[in-house]
Amino acid sequence: MEGSLAPLPGADGEGRGRVLILREVGPLQRRLLEHLEDGERRVREHEEMLAHVSRLSTLGEMGAGLAHELNQPLTAIVSYGQAAARLLGEEDPDLGQVRHAVGASVTQAQRAAQIIVRLRQWVRRTPSQARPTDLVQAALSVLTLCRADLERQGVSVITAYADAPLVLADSVQLEQIILNLLRNALEAVHDTPDPIIKLSIAPEAGGWTLSVRDNGPGIAAGVAARLFTPFTTSKAGGLGLGLSLSQTLAQGMGGDLSGMDGAAGGAVFTLSLPRLVLEAASD
Ligand code: ADP
Repeated sequence: MEGSLAPLPGADGEGRGRVLILREVGPLQRRLLEHLEDGERRVREHEEMLAHVSRLSTLGEMGAGLAHELNQPLTAIVSYGQAAARLLGEEDPDLGQVRHAVGASVTQAQRAAQIIVRLRQWVRRTPSQARPTDLVQAALSVLTLCRADLERQGVSVITAYADAPLVLADSVQLEQIILNLLRNALEAVHDTPDPIIKLSIAPEAGGWTLSVRDNGPGIAAGVAARLFTPFTTSKAGGLGLGLSLSQTLAQGMGGDLSGMDGAAGGAVFTLSLPRLVLEAASD
């Protein structure tokens, strides 16, 4: 409420009393706030569009890589299909071999479909739902998701968490990044005798870092310089989209993702995000 008090003069100029005016300012403030939110929303939409455009131009650059990636399974499907047809044309066809050719062809078709699904995720313009999010919560849900695989591989998981590391992020995207890092670490320690993955969340100037460290073989020389370029992979069945997608998401949150060999061997990938400061109510 806002109020003012004014003298009320009579016809003869004498004071006849006072006028008290009370005004409810709620609607005005609400309108001002709406105006502000509208402005913020427009800035956010603009930023999302920019991120989309920059991803699209990268997509243009990776056209050659994509053609190559899709060409492999498609060529394989054609050869398995031709082989199956040839086998069936024989007088006494070996059905076991036909089954094998058809099965292999299905596997290759699934791989091609998977490439397209991942790529679609990569370019899709999903408006992010940035909310105050606890990094530890995100890490815990990803660890729960991977628990069975971690146990199956006998991986010791060591965690160290900072207190209430709040960031402004879309929790699904955040979990997607952490999941990619954890999956990569799991794959890296596949042949390590005593596999260990360390997941730590720590403060840094102006923000938080989440690092995933493993005791695998470290980053292969051939991929080290292009880790975050789409289709960079050293794995036989790898797509090479996980890290580039994760870095794009991290940058969309105002942070970044980096990776290097660990000082004591293995690899360490670090996600850094700006700290979210919750303003205390002033009164
Ligand atoms: P993909 O896992 O499909 O290959 P990514 O983009 O997630 O795609 O990873 C790209 C490459 O980065 C991997 O093929 C691997 O060579 C390297 N890399 C990622 N994480 C690790 C790690 N923890 N240790 C060693 N190399 C890694």
